[in-house]
Amino acid sequence: MINNFETIVTKSKDISKKWRNIPAPQRGEMIRQFGEELRSQKESLAKTITKEARKIKTESLGEVQEAIDMCDFAVGLSRQLYGLTMPSERPNHRLQELWHPLGVVGCITAFNFPMAVFAWNFCLAAVCGNSIIWKPSPHSNECAKGIKQAWDKVSSEFADLILILEGGNEEAVSICKDKRIVLVSATGSTKMGKELAPIVSARLGKLLLELGGNNAAIVSPSANLDLTIKGIAFSACGTAGQRCTSLRRLFVHKDIYKDCVERLKNCFDDLVIGCPSKDDTQIGPLISENSFNSMQKILDSLKDKGVEVIGGERLEIEDPSEFYVKPALVLVKNIEDEMLTETFAPILYVKDYEDIKDAIHMQNDVAQGLSSSIFTNDIRESELFLSEEGSDCGIANVNIGTSGAEIGGAFGGEKDTGGGRESGSDAWKNYMRRVTATVNYGEDLPLAQGVEFDES
Ligand code: NAD
Repeated sequence: MINNFETIVTKSKDISKKWRNIPAPQRGEMIRQFGEELRSQKESLAKTITKEARKIKTESLGEVQEAIDMCDFAVGLSRQLYGLTMPSERPNHRLQELWHPLGVVGCITAFNFPMAVFAWNFCLAAVCGNSIIWKPSPHSNECAKGIKQAWDKVSSEFADLILILEGGNEEAVSICKDKRIVLVSATGSTKMGKELAPIVSARLGKLLLELGGNNAAIVSPSANLDLTIKGIAFSACGTAGQRCTSLRRLFVHKDIYKDCVERLKNCFDDLVIGCPSKDDTQIGPLISENSFNSMQKILDSLKDKGVEVIGGERLEIEDPSEFYVKPALVLVKNIEDEMLTETFAPILYVKDYEDIKDAIHMQNDVAQGLSSSIFTNDIRESELFLSEEGSDCGIANVNIGTSGAEIGGAFGGEKDTGGGRESGSDAWKNYMRRVTATVNYGEDLPLAQGVEFDES
């Protein structure tokens, strides 16, 4: 393993030195061609996602589209890696920022977005002049190979820009320990982040963490309930509750609580659960038996306490080796301990509230801080939710569920979600080093802050 690792790091470092000398717009052109290749292979790449991550067809196609969107974004960015010029306080001086590539970026990814999260990282890392070593989830090696083959096809000279290190925890740790890998971008559970972050920090490496979420939505009395129920169902049950942004906790105003719960029960009953390759399927299976067991453990613990659990059972449909479940609605009267952790399965806790400030407090009162939503037509409530007293998450939505972000905004969350930002906006700055350069083009040497240092 170590030899393989050593070869990969050496190759990656070598190619990064060549790649950084290619002008950014030419790097962008290669990423444009990569995007074209992904477009032409969209169907087959999506099938690989469905095969490995068990996502339904439309979500798999959407995931490849997200990778294509990232390529388009990076092409535009290739001419916009701007550095500021600031007014200098000294005469005949220029003060400016320069942005340079980091070198080698390590990218550790989770099973549930086996292509898109890599594309967030690769497109930005590459356009900024870096190479990347990718350790995919052990569940998604074929997805990684598919992406690598698409890149190799468009750029044989720079094939080593993407190098894949297959494996599990040990390989991820090797990436974290190696000083030559300047930035480690790690996506996965908070537990993983807490184990890997100290390793990178011990060598003062750069870190980009995209960790677990425990996302909540608030439904106010003024909400359009048709829109709300659809938004809740997609966020809570889509991808079988296996998105970092999946909706896990719902706070419903007491005046509409009964109606909302009734509608949610009906909606959950109508969801089409089954083989993810079939056109009409809305929910595929869980990724593994372990996921199923974690879900059942949490539901059993709630039932033992007398909490009302609707659904959540295994469905013996299609292939008996797969773990299909009915999404669970858990009607809680109080905040239960189980609600405070992320269970990566379709469990939606529902609790009533009276005062919007209490709802916001309950929403924020968890360790994680990834995504949040409010469903309301009351502008005061939505503005409060978006204000500094509102949601403490990296993502705050109004009249949209917690999942399904676009690539144009920076993606990521606070607290135990790790604080990283990837994808759009100025997330590219994570993949570059900033140089503050001051140039004196005068004949004198005035010192900053008026400091005098007369050598005569
Ligand atoms: P995971 O933490 O089990 O694995 C993620 C990656 O980290 C894998 O490549 C795995 O091999 C590696 N890994 C895991 N534990 C490790 C350890 N102790 N030491 C070294 N490497 C380790 O996560 P998963 O089950 O693949 O994905 C689900 C989790 O990922 C959820 O918590 C979800 O919220 C999170 N996630 C977050 C985002 C985000 O952008 N915030 C996106 C997708 C998934």
